Amino acid sequence: MEEVVIVGGGIAGLATAVALRRVGFKCLVLERAAELRAAGAAIGLFPNAFKALDSLGVTHKFLSIYRPMEKAYVVNVDSGVSQEVSFTSNASTPGEETQTRCVHRKALLEALAEELPPNTIRFSSKLASIKTEKLNNSSSLVYVLHLEDGSVIRTKVLIGCDGLYSVVAQWLGLSAPVKSGRSAVRGLAVFPEGHGFPYGPRQYLSNSKRAGFMPLNDKELYWFMTHRTIDGEHELARDPQRIQKEVIENLAKDFPEDYLNVVKHSDLSNLTIAPLNLRVPWDVFFGKTYSGTATVVGDAFHPMTPDMGQGGCMALEDAVVLARSIANKRDKVAEGIENYVKERRWRVTSVLTGAFFSGWVQQGGSGVLWRIVELFRDSLFYKIVFAKMHDSIDKFDCGVLPCVSKD
Ligand SMILES: Cc1cc2nc3c(=O)[nH]c(=O)nc-3n(C[C@H](O)[C@H](O)[C@H](O)COP(=O)(O)OP(=O)(O)OC[C@H]3O[C@@H](n4cnc5c(N)ncnc54)[C@H](O)[C@@H]3O)c2cc1C
Repeated sequence: MEEVVIVGGGIAGLATAVALRRVGFKCLVLERAAELRAAGAAIGLFPNAFKALDSLGVTHKFLSIYRPMEKAYVVNVDSGVSQEVSFTSNASTPGEETQTRCVHRKALLEALAEELPPNTIRFSSKLASIKTEKLNNSSSLVYVLHLEDGSVIRTKVLIGCDGLYSVVAQWLGLSAPVKSGRSAVRGLAVFPEGHGFPYGPRQYLSNSKRAGFMPLNDKELYWFMTHRTIDGEHELARDPQRIQKEVIENLAKDFPEDYLNVVKHSDLSNLTIAPLNLRVPWDVFFGKTYSGTATVVGDAFHPMTPDMGQGGCMALEDAVVLARSIANKRDKVAEGIENYVKERRWRVTSVLTGAFFSGWVQQGGSGVLWRIVELFRDSLFYKIVFAKMHDSIDKFDCGVLPCVSKD
């Protein structure tokens, strides 16, 4: 019988395991992949994420390796107009330790995994189905997890961190995420002699397309392209060379040489294309996100479009809040889990909705309405609305974890 089983060893799963360990719980993490899986190359971490990482005791691992991001530049490819964008309004300037940084996903996963005792993560362990049974004929329930390899694990607490197509979320009764109609290509560009770009993100906008890149260090850049989903994308996803060709010769063919040059320097082992899906806000807010001592964290709870760069940051906040809520109700874990959901649902629903709105404005549709949205985007959105949205999201502090006696 396990005390806590976490399904999924991504950002949410590892952060939750670290947080629960820090408040004295022993966890087992089940990960279907054979090793830590870091699809997407890199991730932007905003001040709210660094506050959560600080509560998890790992912020220091990033500070000397990754430089804070400077101001961003946004260029309208069609009109040639460019503007400088700040991630924060003047109201809040984060301290050095919590400034926005772009980090390798693998580095984030490894930084968290290093905090866990050996054998906490069980790889090649895919959850197939969940059943419940009574504990020793009492009224307490035990979760019986059936893995794809035929093994069975029993646990008192079940945390689903199994991402977009979460088995735990489905079992809880949440509806499936919906398609946004957009997709994203993500890659890592390597310049062995140095890329020479400043440490601020650059973004290029064209009708229904948004692309950009940002340095990770002097030699590597993370780049992306979000666009309307194209026919045959599923097949394209299997061949990184074809994805690169599609971006250069089709999706970004009219984009500036700087961007195309970055794409040409891609490390093909890191190139992905995937549709962007989200859970509808009312399902996140009102849906069945917990039952007894089972709940969901990260994308299993609130998959969102990446237009505020907050999905992973939210997963880190979730982990801290969940561990604190459970630690505060150590003998009544079900109540702790209920408190976690109640504390998180406003926050994650508003960020998810804001991200969708941001994506719609930045990369909206076509036709008459689009002209108005484009005008708003190029005149007011980045200068005022975007900075204010980031400001209110980024200044959030998920708080600390309670101290646990070492006796
Ligand atoms: C294009 C794009 C750009 C983004 N940019 C940013 C950004 O800049 N900043 C940011 O904060 N967020 C960003 N995000 C969002 C971020 O990537 C996700 O929110 C984050 O990865 C969610 O982490 P997770 O651990 O919840 O889910 P996942 O990363 O999906 O991890 C789930 C894990 O569970 C495992 N798993 C799944 N099913 C099972 C099963 N049945 N049994 C066992 N294991 C299972 C998987 O193998 C995986 O390891 C972006 C997303 C996209 C698509």
